[in-house]
Amino acid sequence: MTIDVSYTDDDFLYEGKAKYLFEVEDSGEHLVQRFKDDATAFNGKKFAQFEGKGQLNCAFTTHFFDALNDAGVDTHFHGRLNETDMLIERLEIVPLEVVVRNVVAGSLSDRTGLDEGTPMESPIVETFYKKDELDDPILCDCHVEMLDLVEPQQLRDLKAAALEVNDVIEPMFADAGMRLIDFKLEFGFNAAGALVLGDEISPDTCRIWDAEDDRHLDKDVFRRDLGDLIETYEEVADRLGVQVELIED
Ligand code: UDP
Repeated sequence: MTIDVSYTDDDFLYEGKAKYLFEVEDSGEHLVQRFKDDATAFNGKKFAQFEGKGQLNCAFTTHFFDALNDAGVDTHFHGRLNETDMLIERLEIVPLEVVVRNVVAGSLSDRTGLDEGTPMESPIVETFYKKDELDDPILCDCHVEMLDLVEPQQLRDLKAAALEVNDVIEPMFADAGMRLIDFKLEFGFNAAGALVLGDEISPDTCRIWDAEDDRHLDKDVFRRDLGDLIETYEEVADRLGVQVELIED
């Protein structure tokens, strides 16, 4: 399906670490999200560019958000426009990084002393404050309430939606011989005030391990210098059946 929207580089709205946003000329309710080839880690302290990463992450996000839309999870995704660009609903983003964890890794291992790879009885959801100058600290529910970032019921809805996302995407990895260890989501409110999943889902924002040998198949390859990032992302795309190249219609 071709989506006809009009935007140029002059419609630039915002640059983040991994994506740009553009305004769409004919509507106030949509934006274009463009994926960059840039990779950053440790709050921007480590930086590199990988040709083709933007296209891969646009394809991964399309793949997962299509599946989520089909499963009835509200997302901002309206369709892929070209190799690196997608049409999204304009959201007022909640300044929280919402992390779902199935297995102990990363900062949860550091915080608890539990070894990476320790299984958990059921998934957990954590919230981190999106504030670069504070290095994105973890927040308890009482802090979210105190800072008035969302209403208590909205926080419960947001965590329930995050677990629904896990219910949809974790089996997609399991079916392809991979373990979804943890991942980060962002939510926002649309013009009608509904809570909607935004941002992206890609190996930049997920921890993915091979089910057989625990090989890291995500941005930890870059963070921890474990191998070739593009080759790794291409392997994950191939195993998941992600359509990276566009087919002309
Ligand atoms: N994550 C992310 N962006 C961030 C921080 C974390 O996408 O700014 C993802 C990360 O890739 C992992 C999950 O969230 O899949 C949990 O990250 P963690 O809290 O363990 O932090 P890390 O140790 O990766 O810095």
